[in-house]
Amino acid sequence: MPLIVQKFGGSSVADTQKILGAARKAIRAAQAGNQVVVVVSAMGKTTNHLISLANELTERPSNREMDMLMSSGEQVTIALMAIALESLGYKAVSMTAAQIGIKTDSSYMRARIKSISTESMRNALDSGKIVIAAGFQGIDDAGNITTLGRGGSDTSAVALAAALGADRCEIYTDVDGVYTTDPRLLPEARKVTQISYDEMLELASLGAGVMHSRSIEFAKKFGVAVHVRSSFSDTEGSLIVADPESDAAVAGCALARSEARLTVLDVPDKPGNAMRLFSRIAEAKIATDMIVQNIGVDGRTDMSFSVPVADLAATLDVLKAASKEIGAAGVDYEENVAKISAVGLGMEKRGGVAQTMFQAMAEKGINISMITTSEIKISALVSLADAQETLRTVHAAFELEKAPENPNPLAASHPVTKKLTAAELDVSHLSGMEEILIEGIDLDQSQARITVNDVPDTPGMAALMFQKIAAAGVVVDMILQSCGRDGKTAISFTVSRAMLEKALEVTKMLARQWNSPEPAFNPTVAILAVRGTGLRSHTGLAFRMFKTLADGGINVNIVSTSERNFEITVDESNGQKGLELLRNEFAYSMI
Ligand code: ADP
Ligand code: ASP
Ligand code: MG
Repeated sequence: MPLIVQKFGGSSVADTQKILGAARKAIRAAQAGNQVVVVVSAMGKTTNHLISLANELTERPSNREMDMLMSSGEQVTIALMAIALESLGYKAVSMTAAQIGIKTDSSYMRARIKSISTESMRNALDSGKIVIAAGFQGIDDAGNITTLGRGGSDTSAVALAAALGADRCEIYTDVDGVYTTDPRLLPEARKVTQISYDEMLELASLGAGVMHSRSIEFAKKFGVAVHVRSSFSDTEGSLIVADPESDAAVAGCALARSEARLTVLDVPDKPGNAMRLFSRIAEAKIATDMIVQNIGVDGRTDMSFSVPVADLAATLDVLKAASKEIGAAGVDYEENVAKISAVGLGMEKRGGVAQTMFQAMAEKGINISMITTSEIKISALVSLADAQETLRTVHAAFELEKAPENPNPLAASHPVTKKLTAAELDVSHLSGMEEILIEGIDLDQSQARITVNDVPDTPGMAALMFQKIAAAGVVVDMILQSCGRDGKTAISFTVSRAMLEKALEVTKMLARQWNSPEPAFNPTVAILAVRGTGLRSHTGLAFRMFKTLADGGINVNIVSTSERNFEITVDESNGQKGLELLRNEFAYSMI
């Protein structure tokens, strides 16, 4: 019998009428001949309310008790949902995570799922019941209640679907699908019919709140077809799949308003310093993004990155100690910044995407204070005051309001709801379901790097530079713009070695125009890339990579991070050695 997992978010179960509505959707699925597992969140804003109660008592409640408290929200909903189903004449049974056997580690408030026992759910399903599972919660080996992090019910649902080998996982919410950007922020956002795991994962972790990003890690790793749709209507919704029907250069954009930028100033540029900084941050389980290290001037370099503003205080505590330890000059930070990101699988194949984005922003006079790119995303940091305007501008620049016309050749040959068999997707070596999955470690020796220092930190500079470079027929790969200091910034990029001469010609001309020093370049850089799933949510990865290289005496030049790819650029002479060290370090988890 086919099995469907249906998840209803907070606003979809906000009152008993809505709970009845959700129950009817489950009944319809059961009547259509499916076994049904329903995963629910706490009603409406219950979780927020519970947190504020704790905060009435103290600013720093203990994480264990917060999980005990917060998990109660979901327990109310499962019981009411089961009562609703019984009132409609259906057999149902509610189950907490402990009753199901959703085992997690013991990191309260951000626990990761280790294993899920399917036995009790199967028994109930086989006796004709609809199973109602509490989302968001788990239980550790000692029997303590844990939670998965805010918004974590999506992750519960997809993980249950993976463990049960469900045919589909339906996420019912208050929007009728995944949009090109948050429709609450931009009315012209368009609903997409399909989007890839990689794009959704990137968008979710860059601020698209419609899905908890870790749920997409599960979906990708275990091949779960996810269908996002409305609780309140029967419209079609959006499918999250391996190969969507379109591979437009940009599938969507995300805005993260609550970001902070931190810069560690004048870090002595030697092996191990990046490692020390990031190891301290990783220990505090803080997820960093947009890591930009300037190419060292006079043996010192600034290192900047962004974190969610909620993590700013904790990050500052960590950095103040760490910067002393490594002999840096100090820490500078900015709170009122926003991160805008454009994401698309088709970006890899088509040049000029970054330039389109920078150009559109330049025309509106929006200053970009930092840039990072990876193969499927471009992120720019802007001031919070420019956030809304930037989102509108970038969305319009890629014409996201219009349906794309780029059929994906892979889509036709791959059925959208194909479930991977255990043999096709060998995750048996993962000690826990949510372990990081490393798919490959590679060395790319085809690139050269150029850095232009002392670029005026004013709107339009990146746009001008990449426009001139594109006009010269040069395709740029990785782009980084560091955080400005004293009105100047630095822009680095990589190109294929064959393009180096042409790119240098253009940048030399611009440097003269800006009264900047001659561009620095390295004709033979080596890029070490770790590919996999869960790279960013497992905060320790950057640390392990940096540490492995530092222990081998290898200095890190530039880094580029995304959900599925973590790249570190080193001198060519260190490429082979770095590759061997990294392969060694991660060998145990390689497929
Ligand atoms: P639930 O309680 O059902 O989990 P959430 O509030 O967590 O619902 O997620 C749904 C919300 O996500 C929508 O109301 C929408 O404002 C927001 N959102 C952000 N980005 C997107 C996007 N790209 N597509 C659709 N919704 C988005
Ligand atoms: N109730 C939890 C929260 O509000 C989990 C969820 O809704 O996904 O974060
Ligand atoms: Mg949610």
